[in-house]
Amino acid sequence: MSTFYQSVQRNFDRAAALTTMPKGLLSQIRECNSVLQLRFPVKIGRQIKVIEAYRVQHSHHRLPTKGGIRYSSHVTQDEVMALASLMTYKCALVDVPFGGAKGGVKITPWKYTEDQLERITRRYTSELIKKNFIGPGIDVPAPDYGTGGREMAWILDTYNVFKGGDIDSIACVTGKPVHQNGIRGRVEATGRGVYYGLKELLSIEEDVKKIGMEPGMEGKTIVIQGLGNVGRYAGIICRNEGGAKIIAVSEYEGSIYDPKGIDIDKLCKHRSSTGSILGFNGAKNLESREAALELECDILIPAALENQIHKGNAKRIKAKIIAEAANGPVTADAQEILLKKGTIIIPDMYLNAGGVTVSYFEWLKNLSHMRFGRMEKRFDQNVYENLVGFVEKQTGKSANNKEKKFLVKGADEIDLVRSGLEETMVTAYHQFRNVYKRKRNVKDLRTAAFITALEKIGNDYINMGVFP
Ligand code: GLU
Repeated sequence: MSTFYQSVQRNFDRAAALTTMPKGLLSQIRECNSVLQLRFPVKIGRQIKVIEAYRVQHSHHRLPTKGGIRYSSHVTQDEVMALASLMTYKCALVDVPFGGAKGGVKITPWKYTEDQLERITRRYTSELIKKNFIGPGIDVPAPDYGTGGREMAWILDTYNVFKGGDIDSIACVTGKPVHQNGIRGRVEATGRGVYYGLKELLSIEEDVKKIGMEPGMEGKTIVIQGLGNVGRYAGIICRNEGGAKIIAVSEYEGSIYDPKGIDIDKLCKHRSSTGSILGFNGAKNLESREAALELECDILIPAALENQIHKGNAKRIKAKIIAEAANGPVTADAQEILLKKGTIIIPDMYLNAGGVTVSYFEWLKNLSHMRFGRMEKRFDQNVYENLVGFVEKQTGKSANNKEKKFLVKGADEIDLVRSGLEETMVTAYHQFRNVYKRKRNVKDLRTAAFITALEKIGNDYINMGVFP
């Protein structure tokens, strides 16, 4: 079986072969520019533990580089290189002006106390500072699997200890808690992006009819693997805003099935009080965690780790659409099997780009030192109030309080973040769908997304004058 990085490289090569870009340029785009491999000591109880960690900057064609930091026992250099590469293509695809990067710390986070995790995070950050691998214009980390706002706040604080005089230091990391220079809507961003991407695909009649489905998300059956931040919000938003039915969920401890539909919000509460998704409110416990993936459904959302759908189980997957909310959930071998069956795979580099898109908004907010909406919200509200007043006078009819409140609302930070995210996801989808439709030899959405990203990165290099 090929490694995760080899899988990404294989997908890259397949797309690269369909472009007319020069070989040298393609290899420059393909390779990881800088790989930082770290071993550092941290005092855990009475022992000194040597922690293995990485930061990989895949491409410097745009700066800063950007990408999350993962805490997991599965972290390897291969994995971080794969994830950093995907960040480059993801950012290019959705026009987020960063190069790709990724960090990984090889630990099982729940085996450590909060205090120990803080020590590990601060030491990792100090190492990045020492090697010049972090900074608002250099490399900007964010949350990923096993990390969240808490870790990002520790990173910022550590950075400030060393670089406190830098007026833009708060932009050295994104995904921070809102009260610590974060942005509203960042926590839900990846899940919400999954929703916008899926909604766009499902809205195009010509495409969904081909797989025997009716357009629209309403009533579509969904199976979710992984109830971390991404799976959880994707499930909640697809259900509450899209009207989809989540019929099964798979997690570390097993999977559950309920054809009537599962309320993900309630399921998350059940899991935090009992420690497991099993035994939830009328849902049936399935025999294994893999069983859910193979159920009959419209959409399968793998939102956990890479290599979940592989040569071994691909034949048994019955979903018509696989929505890659995680990074690399479908191996290159599995993809071949699924494409032959006619399954639509919405590629990770597009579908989970919502996180980095809102990170970009957070970075811009930090550099401008001002909340979005602060300048125009009241101005817009006054204009709308005048308009409503004018229409009322002209028509002799008046809007009730609820209607008025809705009509005169000026945009707040959260409204602007969601609108910017939706715009980003919709625009990017049509860009690579056009490549898929127009280019002969492009047989799948991932190749189309890769080609779209490669052309943008290639143009950047050409505009820099690096390649003729
Ligand atoms: N870790 C997320 C990703 O894989 C977010 C990265 C970011 O916000 O920089 O896209």
